[in-house]
Amino acid sequence: MAQLVKEGKLTSEEAELLRTHTVLPDKIANNLIENQISETETPLGLARNFVINQKEREIPMATEEPSVIAAASNAAKIIGRAGGFTTKTFERTMMGQIVLRQVTDFSAVKAVLEEHRLSLFAAAERAYPSIYQRGGGLRSLQWRSFEADGYLSIDLQVDVQDAMGANIVNTMAEGIAQEIRQLLSESEILFSILSNYADHSLVEASCRVPLKMIGAEVAERIAAAAEYAKLDPYRAATHNKGIMNGIDAVVLATGNDTRAVAASVHAYAAKDGEYRGLTDWEIVDDTLIGRLRIPIAIGIVGGATKVLPKAQLSLKLLGVETAEELAEIIVAVGLAQNFAAVRALVTDGIQKGHMALQSRSLAITAGATEQEIPLVVKRLKRAKQMNLAEAADILRELRK
Ligand code: NDP
Repeated sequence: MAQLVKEGKLTSEEAELLRTHTVLPDKIANNLIENQISETETPLGLARNFVINQKEREIPMATEEPSVIAAASNAAKIIGRAGGFTTKTFERTMMGQIVLRQVTDFSAVKAVLEEHRLSLFAAAERAYPSIYQRGGGLRSLQWRSFEADGYLSIDLQVDVQDAMGANIVNTMAEGIAQEIRQLLSESEILFSILSNYADHSLVEASCRVPLKMIGAEVAERIAAAAEYAKLDPYRAATHNKGIMNGIDAVVLATGNDTRAVAASVHAYAAKDGEYRGLTDWEIVDDTLIGRLRIPIAIGIVGGATKVLPKAQLSLKLLGVETAEELAEIIVAVGLAQNFAAVRALVTDGIQKGHMALQSRSLAITAGATEQEIPLVVKRLKRAKQMNLAEAADILRELRK
């Protein structure tokens, strides 16, 4: 930090602010990342009204975006009155890849791998014995070839129990790669690494909203908006961003890896060769049925989940005992977020609700004090324009 001041990149007051405005003990912050200079702040809120598999849940959400938590809570209230969310996990393994290049005789390589299948499984166990003691471990080994380009991917599916599993899978993949090196001297191992496309960790949340609760026309418009998001990638990206507003916030609150989840979800959105909206909303008889099925790679142990004190508190508030339970809650939040966003979009438009909450941020940005914020917000809501210039004008008026 002293160096930054010396180089004129920060004043000493700014450096002091970065140094002192922190809450994590040095032991944690310094060891989680490299070159740590401070911490960033993201508000942690609580979404209410969620009923998931007949159980009420408080949902901690870390987000800087106004209206996300209000929208989730509101959607959960409506869906809760209609019986809440139902979730299921299809399977839960994480994939690793050992990629060979310059393969010429694919049949010969595959024959060697097949012949030594048992020793590859044994190498996996030697590489990460503790996950076996916890009931997990390597579940399957398969290969996919890219013959025209000379590549072969050896795919491992690993039961990582309650961890997200990136490190577990990486360690295991390297252990198996070591064994393969002895068997296939002429093929070169290019790399061994987890795949973030967790399509063997698919989780589904669904809900049923009687048409009389929201109106048949609104329901029909929601279904049409979901259909359109499957046709047009320009809309799909925004549709899915709305889903991720909820998902990311819970993933972040629980100390999980937001990038891993985002990579997986967006890869899944493009699984048909075209990037598509991820939710399905359809009307069956007198009910609007919503469904979100996506891969979710998260854990309740490992990574930062156990290290960050507030991640632990978030997990406590959620009351989850397994990674599977957490993944299911996350998908239900994604579905709620989508319901709220699409419903707003096809009725009042998103801006009305969004900007009402955005007004608080605008008031703060304009420099309003705690006492002035509600006054500025009130006037902003009546103003023709809701933007920073307007907020600043209102504040000037108030202070006259
Ligand atoms: P860890 O390396 O922390 O491994 C999980 C740990 O949890 C192990 O030490 C394990 O102990 C312990 N554990 C305790 N109870 C259980 C249980 N019930 N089930 C499973 N493990 C248990 O984390 P992960 O392997 O989950 O990796 C996640 C981290 O890796 C994240 O921080 C992520 O950001 C990062 N990462 C992500 C990558 C990616 O997404 N591409 C790449 C590389 C890293 P024991 O050893 O005794 O079994």
